[in-house]
Amino acid sequence: MTHNLSSIDPYSPSTGYFECLDCPYRESSGARITACPNCGGDVRNIAVSRE
Ligand SMILES: [Zn+2]
Repeated sequence: MTHNLSSIDPYSPSTGYFECLDCPYRESSGARITACPNCGGDVRNIAVSRE
């Protein structure tokens, strides 16, 4: 008997919240953003707590 209830991870690293350091651009996305699509500046993921 096998149950895969653990397939739902409470840490959900697939959801990110990104904030541009150079402009007010903010984006909640499941994709990783490494550069701001608005100004091309650095973007940080503020949704990550620990890794
Ligand atoms: Zn920007």
